[in-house]
Parts: sequence; structure tokens; C-alpha cells
Amino acid sequence: MKKEIIEKETWWFQQEPQTAPVIYLDNAATTYPKPEILYRAMDYGNRYLAINAGRGSYYLAQIALQEIEIMRKKILQQIHGEEAGETVVTPSATIAMNQIIGGLMLTQKDKVYVSPFEHNAVMRTLYKEQKQKGFTIEELPLVADTLEVDLDKMEYMFSKQPPTAVFVTHVSNVTGYILPIKEIFAITKKITKGEGRVILDAAQSFGIVPIDYSQTPFDAIVFAGHKSLYGPMGIGGFVKHKDFQLDSFLAGGTGSNSLNLSMPKGKDGLEPGSPNIPAILGLCASLVWIKDEGADNIFTHEQKLTECCIRQLKKIEGVKVYTPANPDNRIGVISFSMENYNVNEVAQILDDEYDIAVRAGYHCAPLIHSYLQDKEYGGTIRVSFGWFNTEEEIKIFVDSIREIMEG
Ligand code: PMP
Repeated sequence: MKKEIIEKETWWFQQEPQTAPVIYLDNAATTYPKPEILYRAMDYGNRYLAINAGRGSYYLAQIALQEIEIMRKKILQQIHGEEAGETVVTPSATIAMNQIIGGLMLTQKDKVYVSPFEHNAVMRTLYKEQKQKGFTIEELPLVADTLEVDLDKMEYMFSKQPPTAVFVTHVSNVTGYILPIKEIFAITKKITKGEGRVILDAAQSFGIVPIDYSQTPFDAIVFAGHKSLYGPMGIGGFVKHKDFQLDSFLAGGTGSNSLNLSMPKGKDGLEPGSPNIPAILGLCASLVWIKDEGADNIFTHEQKLTECCIRQLKKIEGVKVYTPANPDNRIGVISFSMENYNVNEVAQILDDEYDIAVRAGYHCAPLIHSYLQDKEYGGTIRVSFGWFNTEEEIKIFVDSIREIMEG
């Protein structure tokens, strides 16, 4: 995008789209581009259905409301959760996590466990609550060599101090590790006799990496529309187990019971504010796209690109790849560093000289870097893949890393 173009106030209107031939390897930040059907749905949503659903009984408001219900259902279908779950809609995964952590009403005697892969959507939110409430936060143990969860040690820790709640990311946004969520769920529920809450952060996995809610009914599963669901920004939420009572954390209008100053109980009380109908339509469209394309095909494609890239990166001298040991346990995201380079410098060179978009730094995940020991590099360079990436792009990327390394 040329600088002189974007200096004009309405540059986006006056110019033909400037799609530079960028190789986009930052799909963990947000998947890009989106499926064509999403653009169509959002254009329709913005033109003809940007109506305040749930606040009026006229025809268009009813249609908008119907689309929200369709989205809720499609989300549950993704994980076979129609029986036990309900979908709560929020503007993002971060807001969803704030709602859950705030709504848990933790107290000083509570014990919260987190995986070392947690994002700041979990960590900062917990830390903020901890300062007010005084509960303890403990990390789940990792095997340092494999960068995978040590389940035996975890079970031992739980038996000594049973968890009130366990927060676990499904797929790490730093290493691409697919955490053993079924086992973590089973051990937590066994030791706490069903009382311990298990909260899954599926921002990087929902829609693509299988979750079977009928077998593993988490208390809450957080999703982000714009990541693995290939949907738009501005929409997220969580699937909440019907028996999991959460207090309202945010307050505001819900379109119901307006004279009452207290928030309504149940799902209504978790959804204050006007719903983002164009984004909901966009997410519905991307859910249709995932079904048509096949979630398993998308999973296989992303995993194939990941393996292809890890294999090639590992051959370059001076490149250190941070990845879980077992290839079956990783997808979509690779972190690495380069000897004698700060990671931000590499990201800049890739952008300036090769038109390759990657992310560098600590990726909003504060705990995992003490295992990676990457601070001397300023964190890691992260590449992350999506359906629209190709093996050819991976080859160009790896060749550019080799070139940079050879000076
Ligand atoms: N959890 C994980 C694992 C993430 O990677 C992210 C986004 N990087 C989030 C939560 C927060 O998502 P959002 O910024 O869309 O609210």
C-alpha cells in the first residue's frame, strides 16, 4: 500500500484495491484473506440487515434475531454440543474470557491452574481479579524437552491441591501445540468429583481442530470468530454448559426487563449491548464455508504446511525451532529464532525485502517464554498458516530465511 495513497482521507474509496503480492503468514493473529462468501454476507448484512436485533418486534429485527439463533446453533453443531451447551455471543474472545473469569466469582480460598501456554486474554484478566480477590494461580507442569504437558505431575499437583478452575488453551498461539484437553478435563473432573471448572480457550482451534463436546463437556469453550473460524473481527463468544451458572460481569441493556436495574439471570445477562449483526452474518457464512470445504481437509492442509515448514527450517544452521516433540500434537503455528538476530529485525527484513508478513515478539503469551528461553532474541519469530497458504509460499519463505542467515 503506497504511503501517498493512504494519506488521502478516503483512500480506500478512491483507489482500486491495492493488493500487494504479500505472503501472509500471520494467520494466528487473524486468518486472512477470508472466504469469498463472507464478504458477500457482510456486505448484505451491512446494507440490508444492520438492525438492532432483540430491541424491536418489526420484521427486519426478527430476521436479525433469527440470524443470531442460527449462529448459536451452528457454533454448537461444530462441536456436537447441541444437547449440553448454549452459545453466548460476545464481541471477542477477550471479552468472553473477561465474562467467564469475572462471572466465576472467585474468592481467596480458590485455587486456579493455568497452562503455561495461556494468552493474556486469560492471564491479565486473572491477574486483575487476583489483585482484588486474592486467590492463588498455579501453572500446569511441562516436560521441558518436549514442551508438552506433564499429565502425571499435573495429577499429583491436583491431588495435593484440587483446582477450583483450570484454564487451558487448546492450541498454543506460540508453538502450535495441541494440548491434551480430554485428559486434562478427565483428571480435573475425577479429582474434584466434578466440581472443578474447566475452561477451554479455543481461540486458535475452534472449527478446525476437533472438539467433541458430547464426550468432553467443558464448562466453557471460548471462540474467536476471526481466527480458526475464518470469520470476521468483532464477533466471538463461548459455549457454556447449561449447568454452569455464571454471574453477570458486564452490565448494560439487553432489550429485556428494562425497568429492572439488575442484570437478568442466565444467557441474557451475559450479552449486554447491541449485537453485531453484520459480523454474525459473516460468521454464519464462514461456518457454511468450513462445512463445504471440510474441517478435516482444512486441518490436514494446515498440518501439512506446518510439517513441511518445520522440516525445512530445521535444516538451516543457526535457526532454532521451538515446537512440541510429537508432530501429531502440533498445527498451524511455528516459533523460531535466528542466531545473532533480534526477532523484530528479522520480521522487518521479511516485510521490507520479501513482502512476507510474520509476527515477532512474545505474542501476548507471558508464561511460555521461560521454557523457550528466547529472551536474548526478543521472543520468537512466529509464522502461522491457513487454508489459503501454499507449499510454494513456504518454500519462498524458507529460502528468504536461508538468505538472511547467510547474510
Ligand atoms: N486466546 C488465544 C490463544 C489467542 O491467540 C488470542 C488472540 N491472539 C485470544 C485468546 C484473544 O482473541 P481476541 O484478540 O480475538 O479477543
